[in-house]
Amino acid sequence: MKIYNTLTRKKEDFVPIEEGKVRMYVCGPTVYNLIHIGNARPMIVFDTVRRYMEYAGYEVKYVSNFTDVDDKIIKAAIEEGVTAEEISKRYIEECKKDMKALNVREATKHPLATEEIEGMIEMISGLVEKGYAYDSNGTVYFRTRKFKDYGKLSKKNIDDLEAGHREIKVAGEENKEDPLDFVLWKPKKEGEPYWKSPWSEGRPGWHIECSVMSKKYLGDQIDIHAGGEDLIFPHHENEIAQSEAANGVGFSKYWMHNGFLNIDNKKMSKSLGNFFTVRDISEKYDLQVLRFFMLSAHYRSPINFSAELMEAAKNGLDRIITAVANLKHMEENLASETLTEDEKEKLRKADEFVVKFKNAMEDDFNTADAISVVFELVKYANINVTESSSKEFAKGLKDSIVTLADVLGIIAEKQEEILDDEIEKLIAERQAARKEKNFARADEIRNELLAKGIILEDTREGVKWKKA
Ligand code: AMP
Ligand code: ZN
Repeated sequence: MKIYNTLTRKKEDFVPIEEGKVRMYVCGPTVYNLIHIGNARPMIVFDTVRRYMEYAGYEVKYVSNFTDVDDKIIKAAIEEGVTAEEISKRYIEECKKDMKALNVREATKHPLATEEIEGMIEMISGLVEKGYAYDSNGTVYFRTRKFKDYGKLSKKNIDDLEAGHREIKVAGEENKEDPLDFVLWKPKKEGEPYWKSPWSEGRPGWHIECSVMSKKYLGDQIDIHAGGEDLIFPHHENEIAQSEAANGVGFSKYWMHNGFLNIDNKKMSKSLGNFFTVRDISEKYDLQVLRFFMLSAHYRSPINFSAELMEAAKNGLDRIITAVANLKHMEENLASETLTEDEKEKLRKADEFVVKFKNAMEDDFNTADAISVVFELVKYANINVTESSSKEFAKGLKDSIVTLADVLGIIAEKQEEILDDEIEKLIAERQAARKEKNFARADEIRNELLAKGIILEDTREGVKWKKA
C-alpha cells in the first residue's frame, strides 16, 4: 500500500509501527456551529482510508477529537447568552448526526479537549522542565527555535519565518522571547471558561490539545496523522515540535492532508456567501450523494462543489443502487439455483475488477479510479445477468458490488425499512403458528425478521425484539 507522506513529499510504502495494526489520528472540527461541507471532506476521506485499511486486514485504532474550547465557541456563547459548554455540546451532537448520515463511522475514540486538560498541563510542565517552554506572566510559550527540526513538515525555513513575523506585532504577545514562539497555555479573560494550572487560571492553546489526545489514546508514536491541508502550518508543524520535544521520539510516521473544497471554483467562505453546511445539502440530497461526490476526486486534489457536479454524483450513485436492486430482484426471482460452468468462469473474471479496485486504493487511496472500477463491474453485471442466469450468479455479482461500495462507505443495497407495527404483526403470527405446532412457519417468520435486522428473544414475559 502506498501513501503520499507530506513529511517527505513522496508516495511511500506503508509499513506500520506494529505489524497488522494502524494507529491513526485525524484532527476534528471546532464545534461552534453546524459543520460545513469543507469540514466533511476530511471526515469522509479519512473514514474511507480507515475502511480500506480494515478491508486490507489491518486492525485500526482511529482517534478524532472535538475542539470544544476555543475563541469562536466563546464568541458564539456570548452572542447567544449561553455557556460555551452549551454551544459545544449542542454542535457535537449535531456533528455526530451529520457524520452518521454521511456514513462516517464512529471513531474508536472521540476525545474532547475539555476532558483532557490534566494531560495538557502535564505535557506543558514537561516541556517547561526540559527548557522547551517558558512561563511569561501566566502565558506559557513554546520555545520554537530550540526544536531543531522546526519546519520539517511545512518545509519552512525558520529564518524566513522570523523575517515574516517581524512585520506583524500581535497585541498581548510582547512578552515572548521570540516572535516565533507559540502559545501552550493562556490566562483567562473575564467570563471565559478556565482551568487551574501552575501558571494561571486559563486554558490550553489549540495545538497542544492534539499532541496530548494523540499520545493518550494512541501512544507516543503513531502511524498516520491527518487533516485538511490548511493544518500543515502552523497546527501540525507545532504538534510535531511539542510531541517530539516532550516524548523524545518521532511523532507520526505518515502525514496525510486532504485538498480543499471550493464552490463554483472559488474558495468557500462565509464572507463570500458561498457557504453550505452539510445540513443545507441534506435538504436536497441523501448525504450519501455528498460522500460519493467527495470520493469522485482524489483526496489530495482540490475539489469543486457545484450543482451540476452534485447532480452527476447523484446519477452515478443511482446507477449503482439501481443495478444492485435489479440483481437482488433477479436473485429472488430467477428459476435456476446453481452456477453453470460458464457462470463460474464469469465470476472469476469479475474478480479481476476486485483486483483493479484494490490496486487503485493501494495507490494512495485513488477513490476516483476505484469508483470507475465499480462502474465497470456494474456494467459487467448488467450485461451478464439475464433471465436464464442462476440465482447464485446474480447474488455473486451483487455481493461484489455491495462489498466494494461498502469499502467506500457507500450503502449500495438499501435495507428494507420495517415498521414496528409490522414487526408486532409478524410476532403475533409466529405465536399463533407455534400454538398450532406449525414450527416451520414460526421459523420462517423468525428468519424473515432476522433478514430485516430484527432479532427475536423468547423470554418468560413473552417475545421481545431488538434491532441487530
Ligand atoms: P476546523 O473546524 O476549521 O478546524 O476544520 C476541521 C477540519 O476541516 C480540518 O481538517 C480542516 O482542514 C478541514 N477543512 C476546513 N475547511 C475545509 C475546506 N474548505 N475543504 C477541505 N477541508 C476543510
Ligand atoms: Zn489537530
